Amino acid sequence: MTAPQASRFYVTTTIPYVNARPHLGFALELVQADVLARHHRRRGEPVRFLSGTDDNSLKNVLAAEAEGIPVQDLVDRNAAAFAALDAPLALSLDDFIRTSRDPRHRAGVERLWRRCAAAGDLYREHYEGLYCVGCEQFYTPDDLVDGRCAEHGTEPQTVAEENWFFRLSRYTDELRALIEDGRLRIEPAARRNEVLALLARGLRDFSVSRSQTRARGWGIPVPGDPGQVIYVWWDALGNYVTSLGYGGEGQRGAAYEQWWAGDGRRVHLVGKGVLRFHAVYWPAMLLSAGLPLPTDILVHDYLTVDGRKISKSAGATVDPKELVGEHGTDAVRWWLLREVPRVGDADFTRERLVARADADLAGGLGNLVHRVVTMVHRFRDGLVPAADRPGEPGTEALLTACQETPDTVAAALHDVDFRRATAAVWRIVDEANRCIDETRPWELARAERRHRNAFAGHRLDAVLAALVHACRALAAELEPFLPDAAALIARRCAPTPDGHLPPPAPLFPHSAHRQPAATPGP
Ligand SMILES: [Zn+2]
Repeated sequence: MTAPQASRFYVTTTIPYVNARPHLGFALELVQADVLARHHRRRGEPVRFLSGTDDNSLKNVLAAEAEGIPVQDLVDRNAAAFAALDAPLALSLDDFIRTSRDPRHRAGVERLWRRCAAAGDLYREHYEGLYCVGCEQFYTPDDLVDGRCAEHGTEPQTVAEENWFFRLSRYTDELRALIEDGRLRIEPAARRNEVLALLARGLRDFSVSRSQTRARGWGIPVPGDPGQVIYVWWDALGNYVTSLGYGGEGQRGAAYEQWWAGDGRRVHLVGKGVLRFHAVYWPAMLLSAGLPLPTDILVHDYLTVDGRKISKSAGATVDPKELVGEHGTDAVRWWLLREVPRVGDADFTRERLVARADADLAGGLGNLVHRVVTMVHRFRDGLVPAADRPGEPGTEALLTACQETPDTVAAALHDVDFRRATAAVWRIVDEANRCIDETRPWELARAERRHRNAFAGHRLDAVLAALVHACRALAAELEPFLPDAAALIARRCAPTPDGHLPPPAPLFPHSAHRQPAATPGP
């Protein structure tokens, strides 16, 4: 195990609009953030893991109008569906903020606004622009593809009104310096370069309010100018500090001092579509307000479903809660972590999820643990032998794999490469199976029994001890990725009060196409 580091680790997901129910693409972000949170907790670091919902969007207002219900009702209903992903996805959230309901939020956003105003970075101006409600963003004609939003494929509406503007242009050079020297780390490199290219083209000030009329009276009013509502992105980005009590005094602001003002890491996980907001707008807002910046912005690409972009209107969407109901938490998490590449979109199909779960979980992991526990029962009456012969031939590679895996996993997670991290853990499974094939414990047992061969008996002890050690190492290393399976493996490999392992039982008895558990040998 790597030496524990005392550094604080604050990790956030983006907060999604709640105009619709959650889809699998957001589950990817939640699960990735959860792995990082769990990984850093295991290393002994103080961790805080935040998610939430972006309630104050015009999109939510329009969705409620379409359904003919009050906005708050729609927002409450859909936000509850996001909050309810906690259990099915086995998330270790410390906090969940809802921007329309949480008393911490408005106070914090107002304070952020006043700080930027005091810095001279907010001014009123008449503005005319092309607005995509889907993105909640103004575009210039150059940003559009054939006159349409690249993200939504829709034609933006022309909006003309007097708005508050934020002096983004003032921060171009400072942002470039922060990103170039790594104080603001953006991963992967292609995304960092994308942001640097954006900065090289120069930044324009952006509109940070809209009229009450256009906002349909929904959102946080501009302090001192109640005819205007704060731009939803300004409002939403603030959640990363408002949830820490930035708007509060004394005890209410203590979390802010602990998690944002200190020298720990402040990590945002974001989808590629909202990179500009997190890597340009948000840091500039913080610079203006005189607050520390995030330390890491980790960008993931998108999921497609059956080869199509996730889209509710096109019917290409997967409800993560339903998926877990059908295939289990472990299978869903495992697909998201084991199959989605670090760079590039990944295509989800149920067939791929089931195939992966069957091969790796029921087949690889489940079989291994079941075989090992069965052998300990069959050959040693359920008592795990003491590992007093660590150099036993056939077990060295396995013990080395157990020893090296924590560092390999840590390095992969530092690079935000979940596929590499899970592959690193799998080295233990592969080496354990190789160890069984090479040492053939059932033959050692036969030699011991029939020929009273004490040497074979000692070898068998060493092999079984190494295999149980490997299963326990798997339980430990898998905890960030598959918390449920890891807990189950740990229980299967922990002696009961009488010193025996619990009786062998399949780990994944309910998997869709589970293969029969292998017997320990002839
Ligand atoms: Zn759009």
